[in-house]
Amino acid sequence: MLKQMSSFLMVLLVATLAHAADKKKPSVGYDNTPKLPSGWRVHDIARPQPTPVAPGIQLGDAPADAIVLFGGTNLDLWRGVKQDNRKKGRYNPEGQVLWKVENGYMQCTPTGDLFTRQSFGDCQLHIEWQSEVPPKGHSQGRGNSGVFLMGMYEIQVLDCYENRTYADGSAGSVYGQTPPMFNACRKPGEWQVYDIVFQSPRFEGGKLVAPAYITVFLNGVLVQHKTEILGPTSHKKLPVVKPHATKLPIKLQDHSNPTRFRNIWIRELDLGGQ
Ligand code: MG
Repeated sequence: MLKQMSSFLMVLLVATLAHAADKKKPSVGYDNTPKLPSGWRVHDIARPQPTPVAPGIQLGDAPADAIVLFGGTNLDLWRGVKQDNRKKGRYNPEGQVLWKVENGYMQCTPTGDLFTRQSFGDCQLHIEWQSEVPPKGHSQGRGNSGVFLMGMYEIQVLDCYENRTYADGSAGSVYGQTPPMFNACRKPGEWQVYDIVFQSPRFEGGKLVAPAYITVFLNGVLVQHKTEILGPTSHKKLPVVKPHATKLPIKLQDHSNPTRFRNIWIRELDLGGQ
C-alpha cells in the first residue's frame, strides 16, 4: 500500500513539475500585434505552421514529398509521340518511349520528344542534364534539348561552354524571349543542374488574367528571376498566347542531339493568386 502511495505521489510530482516548466516556456507567438496585409498578425500565434518536408540526404536529392519522374532505371512515367520525320532522321510510328536508359541516365534518341504521363501546373522541378562529349556542332546545333513546362514553355538546354549563340537561345533562357542573367554552364560531359520554379498562367473565360512566371537556377546560379513568360515558345516568331488547361505534361525535347538527363523530380505547388 505504502509503495503504491509513493508511486502515485511521484507521478503527481512529475506532472506538477512538467506543468510548471511548461508555464515558464516563452510564448511562441502573439495575439495582440498589428495585422499584416495578409490578415495575419505580426508573429501571429495562430498562423499555420509550415508543412514539414523531409529534405533529401544530399543536395539535389528528392525531398520526401516529390514525385520522382526519373530515378535512373526506367521511363515508366513518360510517354513518346508518334513520329515519321525520316528527313530529320526521326522515326517512331507507334509513339513508343524509345529514349535510351543506361548507367542511371536517359539519353535522347532520334525518336521524338518525351512527355510526362502526369500533368503539372505550378511546380518546383529539379532536372540534371549533360551534353555530348566530345561536343559536335555549333550554336543551336550543339547539345540542344529543352525542358518545356506545360509542354510549351521552354527553358533551353544547350551546350553553352565556349559556344556562341543568340542570347535568348542560351542555356537557361526562356527560349526566344529572355536570355539567362549569367552563363553558368559547365564543360560538356559534366552534369548540369536546373532548379526551376514555375507559376503557370491564369486564364479566366478564355482570357489571360496573369502570365506565367519562371525562376531558374543553373548549377546553383540564378539565371531567371520570376521572369514573365510571354507565351508558348516559338522559333523566329513572337509568342502567341492561347488559353489552355491548368495542368499539362512536361516535355523533354528531341533536337537530334544525344543529350542525357538524370535525377528528375518535381514538387507540385499552388503558388496562389493570379
Ligand atoms: Mg531546345
